[in-house]
Amino acid sequence: MGVEGGAPDYIRNLSGYVPGKPVSELAREFGLESRNIIKLASNENPLGMSPAARRAMLASADRLSLYPDGAAHELKAVLAAHHGVSTECVVVGNGSNDLLELVARTFLAPGRNAVHAEYAFAVYPLVSRAVGATCIEVPSRNFGHDLAAMADAIDCDTRLVFVANPNNPTGSFLPGGMLEQFLARVPSTVLVLLDEAYCQYLPADLQYDSISWLERHPNLVITRTFSKIYGMAGLRVGYALCNPAVAELMNRVRQPFNVNSLAQAAACGAIGDDEFVHRSAESNREGLRELKAGIECLGLRCLPSCANFLTFHAGDGEAVNLALLRDGVIVRPLASYGLPSWLRVTIGLPEENARFLKSLRMALKGHDV
Ligand code: PMP
Repeated sequence: MGVEGGAPDYIRNLSGYVPGKPVSELAREFGLESRNIIKLASNENPLGMSPAARRAMLASADRLSLYPDGAAHELKAVLAAHHGVSTECVVVGNGSNDLLELVARTFLAPGRNAVHAEYAFAVYPLVSRAVGATCIEVPSRNFGHDLAAMADAIDCDTRLVFVANPNNPTGSFLPGGMLEQFLARVPSTVLVLLDEAYCQYLPADLQYDSISWLERHPNLVITRTFSKIYGMAGLRVGYALCNPAVAELMNRVRQPFNVNSLAQAAACGAIGDDEFVHRSAESNREGLRELKAGIECLGLRCLPSCANFLTFHAGDGEAVNLALLRDGVIVRPLASYGLPSWLRVTIGLPEENARFLKSLRMALKGHDV
């Protein structure tokens, strides 16, 4: 047995997360020029980073010989004021992935389980299994979460239920009323992690106030991120809003300097940049309409999406993806989600969307869909 045999079985049996392909990797693999490649694979903001965040980040750049504020006082104060909660309700993370992992490390262990939906974000089973817990995967309902079946799946070893709203990679959405009913059914000893990475892309009539539920449901943990609408995916900042007792436990497990100084400063600058958030949501709505119409015009089915991406049925997903890559267009294949016929495309700028549609049209030639 090699040294790797010393790792627990639950680690050796893990399959790692497959991220979107970076531009530089595709350029190397196919001998393409980076400037001719478009990446619509990782649900990043095509407008770039919030200018207010960028200014705040640059202003903090001459203090990098010092450790960050381990307790992220200023960032937590800004977030607490923004959401109308107390600072004890806020936990910061190196992206919201860090919070998903922190919740798993804090509440799961061998012998315990987490419930999640089929086709839900791949990090949920990953962080759960990485601490030796098992997962109960509940079959999806129309590619979204079946909340009634998820509530039924909870057993005496369940400590955590993951709900993504909207969900990645399917874009599915659950109205606030359904989530409230679900929370009322979940035992108070089981944590509900409501992952709202894409909530700011929701049209006004679908938005709901999950933060107001925290008072009534001490077992609710809401996660948000600066990676999507604020355009800060490379900086890595996310946060959780939850009951102070839950936050206190998570903060014991959290690495003290998990959010770097540049990221903390940028997040403080970003939170008030309503103009950028509004502009990003508008650009996304327009792009979503364009892309959906364009993909459907090619005779392909799109799943309804409330986020900054669209998932569509490409037929031979691997072949279509390869043809797109050869043409310098990176999207996200979904075979690792058990959806080999589907591809996910992030909403880009108008010119990127047009280029993708042109490339998709060419890629489909010769493939049955
Ligand atoms: N949750 C969902 C549903 C996501 O799609 C993502 C990003 N792909 C994340 C969480 C994590 O994002 P980040 O770590 O950049 O905040």
